[in-house]
Amino acid sequence: MEINMEYVLQTLKEIMQIDSPSGYTAAVMEKVEQKAEALGYSFEMTHKGNGIITIPGKDLEYVVGFCAHVDTLGLMVRSIKENGALAFTKIGGPNLATVDSELCRIHTRDGRVYDGTVYCTKPASHVYKEAGKERSEENLEVRLDEDVSSKEEVQKLGVQAGDYICIDPKFTITPSGYIKSRFLDDKLSVAILLGVLEHFASHHLIPSHTVKILISTYEEVGHGMAWIPQDIRELIAVDMGCIGEDLSCTEKMVSICAKDSSGPYDYAITSRLAELAKENELEYAIDIYPYYGSDVSAALSGGQDIQGALIGPGVFASHAYERSHVKAVENTMKLLIAYWLD
Ligand SMILES: [Zn+2]
Repeated sequence: MEINMEYVLQTLKEIMQIDSPSGYTAAVMEKVEQKAEALGYSFEMTHKGNGIITIPGKDLEYVVGFCAHVDTLGLMVRSIKENGALAFTKIGGPNLATVDSELCRIHTRDGRVYDGTVYCTKPASHVYKEAGKERSEENLEVRLDEDVSSKEEVQKLGVQAGDYICIDPKFTITPSGYIKSRFLDDKLSVAILLGVLEHFASHHLIPSHTVKILISTYEEVGHGMAWIPQDIRELIAVDMGCIGEDLSCTEKMVSICAKDSSGPYDYAITSRLAELAKENELEYAIDIYPYYGSDVSAALSGGQDIQGALIGPGVFASHAYERSHVKAVENTMKLLIAYWLD
């Protein structure tokens, strides 16, 4: 099975270039729409802004959904301080210790974009003995790279409470195949699903059952897939696989989650995914995620009558500066392709 890795990595790069914290996803969804339509598939959008790409199957009656989220963690302006720095509130749960000193972009509601940096309120080690202290919303702020030193000057730039502050993902791929970036959770899976779509289009393949790819835009704040198209019988979340203490997944594997904080996933589907991974000689792990809820959890909590499962590429250091590997992309894609054809 030949995987078009170049397509996936190019797609990943393109969607990484578009800032998209939860609630600010219109631009990135336009890109996803273009990608789906370029491959010859229909794209619809829900009222909330989630995307639906439909791939008709041999069996049109039974519909299987695969969701990944294109929304990311981020920050939002809470207030402008008297000295012109921005106090912020978190969008989702970024690891604030790792946000210190990151580059960011502030998007105003009238479409202006300013560069900035997240700093500790006492950043200089030569001046403050507190410089090395724990990081929180209280002791971090954003400094704009503009000539401003007062609240009024910042207001004149059009910056106000409620503006999105988007952290630079620092996207890079090493010659050894490591993919390093913020927000691999879950843009890597969006690129993977589009890669599977490209695989089906270029090889003229038809899935056994009708497939709906759902692109979620509010996963990081918990309600992404609370509603899904009502013809979906199975929903499989493609979201980052956990790596760490007690877990067997690596950055090169596809992770199959048996249970997370929201409870166990569907027994039959999870077992079938593990069987397919084994049959296809993929590198995979079945793991329990200690602090995790997926869009399938959101769908089930939202009252959807579905069987749900969760798989995804192994991602190291989630919600910080993350790392995965092209091998994980390949293993995840091969498992998805096998399931679509199963
Ligand atoms: Zn995620």
